[in-house]
Amino acid sequence: MANEQAASVTESGETAVFDAVIVGAGFAGLYMLHRLRGLGMSAKVYEAGGGVGGTWFWNRYPGARCDVESLQYSYSFSDALEQEWQWTERYASQPEIERYLNHVADRFELREDIQFETRVIAMTFNEDAKRWSIRTDRGDRTTARFCVMATGCLSTAKTPDLQGIDAFQGDTYHTGHWPAEGVDFTGRRVGVIGTGSSAIQCIPYLARQASHLFVFQRTPNFSVPAHNGPLSPQLLEDWKANRVRYRQRDRASHFGIRIELNRKSALGAQPEERQREYDARWCDGGFAMLGAFADIILNREANETAAEFVRSKIRAIVRDPAVAEKLTPKDYPFATKRLCVDTDYYATFNRDNVTLIDVRATPIREVTSTGVRTVRGEYALDSIVCATGFDAMTGALHRIDIRGRGGVSLQQHWSGGPRTYLGITIAGFPNLFTITGPGSPSVLSNMVLSIEQHVEWISDCISYLRNRKLASIEAAVEAEDAWVAHVNDVTSYTLFPFANSWYVGANIPGKPRVFMPYVGGVGVYRRKCDAVATQGYQGFVLRS
Ligand code: NAP
Repeated sequence: MANEQAASVTESGETAVFDAVIVGAGFAGLYMLHRLRGLGMSAKVYEAGGGVGGTWFWNRYPGARCDVESLQYSYSFSDALEQEWQWTERYASQPEIERYLNHVADRFELREDIQFETRVIAMTFNEDAKRWSIRTDRGDRTTARFCVMATGCLSTAKTPDLQGIDAFQGDTYHTGHWPAEGVDFTGRRVGVIGTGSSAIQCIPYLARQASHLFVFQRTPNFSVPAHNGPLSPQLLEDWKANRVRYRQRDRASHFGIRIELNRKSALGAQPEERQREYDARWCDGGFAMLGAFADIILNREANETAAEFVRSKIRAIVRDPAVAEKLTPKDYPFATKRLCVDTDYYATFNRDNVTLIDVRATPIREVTSTGVRTVRGEYALDSIVCATGFDAMTGALHRIDIRGRGGVSLQQHWSGGPRTYLGITIAGFPNLFTITGPGSPSVLSNMVLSIEQHVEWISDCISYLRNRKLASIEAAVEAEDAWVAHVNDVTSYTLFPFANSWYVGANIPGKPRVFMPYVGGVGVYRRKCDAVATQGYQGFVLRS
């Protein structure tokens, strides 16, 4: 395989030629570009946004912040980068992460190969040439040996299909498409639709600005405190001195983050011991609760002890018992919908200018020109904030008309739900890679750690092909079948299937109900991926 140098594109109708096209310039796309350049390959990144950052470019709503700790939610591939960058808080805010990614783009001189404000609309595999043809919404035509989808798991925003929403005379926003110039809600009556992670982060901020905030809640969520704060110089120093060891620990862990996993069963513990354990983890903050006992996510009764602990916290924080009751999740197990991490979320409902509306009990009938009307009455609003989530994991891929061998579309191949081999490749779609795709730990892990693992696996794979003068790699159907069966099998031992979460596509009408991420843990998963590679890419068909 020769190094196919880039020709110039394209407004003239010419076709540009690259070794690889990468779709997306977030954490995944940036590192993929850096790695491919390191292999001496030509690569082009197409990015729909006007800047780097992906998720962190679009989700700039008030309070947007990562709920994985900044020292862990950052690249590990460059010692120099780790030494020079100073995170300021335990959990980094959106502006800080965006600054970091801009720094990375500049430091590694990545921008010249990124074309911004350009959306890939079609990708077709040419079987004779063993190359992909790529088209963008700006008329670019490109061919590439390899395509890497760095499109993100939560990048296709979902707006609520509420009758009349287009006729609303006030302003409407989606947390996943927040205006770069920001929004001043001072003195406005604001309605927030949704109570997932995005809403839980922005509600306390909106409540401090708005004259009145109306929260339209369909399903209450479990949320735990972040206990965010500045990072101490000692902690930063320790991290920098021991980063290699800490990163190794995280790579071998279950979630890809530092959580002490208690091996004990919640049911085997005495009530006082359980209380102590949950209290300690609540005080620690963030996802520490997930590791409190080994069976929380496996056993309904064990799970109920954790659920009840969080419910008791809600009752203790929220003064009005009726409001506390509405905020209390009851109909799905703890942590089987994405656990939320907040700062002052529940306490915000003690404010006089915040009203919680349970739209499961009193459903929204329509959006009128002046507000939201439920079966009980109308709420006059100046602004509506939709915190209504995303078409997760598959949405961004399905927006592109991807056609593999025999002209078969990804839509057809995934009509019953996503199917991948290792979450990285798809049978019938040679030389196409999905970073943190369905069937990999992705959204159940520290995304940056999982992204790095995939980028490195993919670049090693491409290097392997090049060294052996092979033109293509493609998952065998049997290997894909076996992996899908394994992913489902592991899921079936957990309580995840009991929740109507976006993990199973329940938030998108008509989406096949399939649990999409791999729950086996990042350490186990990495070993499986590495074993496939060291055995000469077992389960793949390699062609010259
Ligand atoms: P989400 O978790 O899917 O929440 C969407 C919310 O909107 C849910 O409460 C949903 O209710 C509600 N909703 C949707 N359509 C509605 C309708 N027609 N009427 C009333 N309510 C409606 O979305 P998200 O909050 O944007 O979070 C998505 C994921 O992004 C998170 O789970 C997390 O993985 C990631 N995220 C991470 C961070 C972070 O790192 N801090 C921050 C934000 C997001 P139902 O539950 O009833 O469907």
